[in-house]
Amino acid sequence: QWIFMNGEYVGKEDAKVSVYDHGFLYGDGIFEGIRAYDGNIFRLDEHIRRLYDSAKAMLLTIPYTQQEMAEIVADTVRRNELEDAYIRLVVSRGPGNLGLDPFTCKTPQVIVIAEQLALFPKEFYERGMEIVTVATRRNRSDILNPKLKSLNYLNNILIKIEASLAGAGEALTLNTEGYVAEGSGDNVFIVRDGELWTPPSYLGALEGITRNAVMEFARDMGYVVHEQPFTRHDVYVADEVFLTGTAAELIPVIRVDGRTIGDGVPGVHTLRLLEIFQTHVRTDGVK
Ligand code: PLP
Repeated sequence: QWIFMNGEYVGKEDAKVSVYDHGFLYGDGIFEGIRAYDGNIFRLDEHIRRLYDSAKAMLLTIPYTQQEMAEIVADTVRRNELEDAYIRLVVSRGPGNLGLDPFTCKTPQVIVIAEQLALFPKEFYERGMEIVTVATRRNRSDILNPKLKSLNYLNNILIKIEASLAGAGEALTLNTEGYVAEGSGDNVFIVRDGELWTPPSYLGALEGITRNAVMEFARDMGYVVHEQPFTRHDVYVADEVFLTGTAAELIPVIRVDGRTIGDGVPGVHTLRLLEIFQTHVRTDGVK
């Protein structure tokens, strides 16, 4: 396996970062999770754009143009002879001193890992997933904007821990005002009377690329899609609930906090959207 590190490809064993890297010391860095289907990299330009937006917001200079970075990602996939891959693109602030000051870090570390995809269990798609609301609240956009996809994922990890301890596949998170935000690493949608609802990102949700793609495909299919705040009550009484994410694609949710959603099986709209999504991802990407 070849890993791209700062301009060269190194073996897995040699792909190491410094203990002085502020990505390690402080979570001072950014990342993207990207997916390739049959050699097509899904929405690569959007992932690159989100990465560069995050970099700009935290005054981190990536030493490549967006076009060069896209080429590096595609090249890493090719070099590893992968058709279906999960790609992790990381840019950390780089090694500095032990202080917080990011300006002591002179060389950002740019890393691209592409590996064989570890698929979610088939069972999630066939039977659906159970999720629970956790006590840890999601950051709102006025606290640490979730649009900035940083390496500082402790909030998400604490959320994931709570969901796992409760025996649930994912968490449903609320923001500090009690509005539904997202999962620990997935966006959430509800379906009611044939219309789709997903929280606006300012409530504390990452503007997921899968989320945006699903909204676009759904609108093309004739669905009305609302990007509007809603509460747990709306989730409990929804006809269908599903999660979206790069790795998850669309995962049907059949129980939330013990409340059965709809008939307790993956819903027809969810399955239809999943099918359309899977068709698009195999044809839309960059080779
Ligand atoms: N929400 C969070 C917090 C995430 O980390 C991710 C994945 O990166 C998502 C949602 C889903 O976003 P995407 O569809 O871009 O993978």
